[in-house]
Amino acid sequence: LENPQSELAQALGRIQVLAIRDELTGLINRRHMMEVLNQHQKRLHRSGHHQFYLALLDVDHFKRINDTYGHNVGDEVLHRFAQVLESALRDTDILARWGGEEFVLLLNDTTSSLANIALERARTLLQEAPLVPSHPMISITFSAGMTGYMDGELLHTCIERADKALYRAKEQGRDCTVIDDRDSLEQEPLNPP
Ligand code: GH3
Ligand code: MG
Ligand code: MG
Repeated sequence: LENPQSELAQALGRIQVLAIRDELTGLINRRHMMEVLNQHQKRLHRSGHHQFYLALLDVDHFKRINDTYGHNVGDEVLHRFAQVLESALRDTDILARWGGEEFVLLLNDTTSSLANIALERARTLLQEAPLVPSHPMISITFSAGMTGYMDGELLHTCIERADKALYRAKEQGRDCTVIDDRDSLEQEPLNPP
């Protein structure tokens, strides 16, 4: 080894990057996202504000892309999809790869309608330009389930709610977002006149 110190430092640096980043998309990985969510949960609990929303996104009929164009093109589609999503989001939003063709999005200090605007912007971008230059005929859509985190609940409970909303989006024909907005449910009068 020419310079063992620096090679070791580089190797350690790479391990640190891999520990929080997903290699294919460059997004943060699921494990690191759980830490980020934990921090947001604590911050909301301490301060009483910093409300955040969680969205689970799943690429529609992604298996068809792999079956038609091969796994490598599928990988490229996922990579580009992540880039398009990021370009549609605000700096304060945090996107992670949740696994496979599923992504999770944390939307800070927002309302469900504002959060939904970001997802609609992403949908428009996906329609406007070919995702993969070498295969301009490929066009993809995604379904999403979104919900607000409620102070005091387990993260798991919130994620489950987003997942159920995602399932409903798939059932409703895909390429759409289902919002499970508990805030607006609570605003409905309990005893209507
Ligand atoms: P749906 O609209 O119901 O979500 O249909 P779908 O085809 O997207 O869902 P399904 O769960 O049947 O298929 C997901 C596919 O995603 C299957 C799997 O091979 C593929 N996949 C998961 N991770 C990767 C990856 O990293 N690269 C590639 N190329 N494919 C992946
Ligand atoms: Mg899936
Ligand atoms: Mg899918």
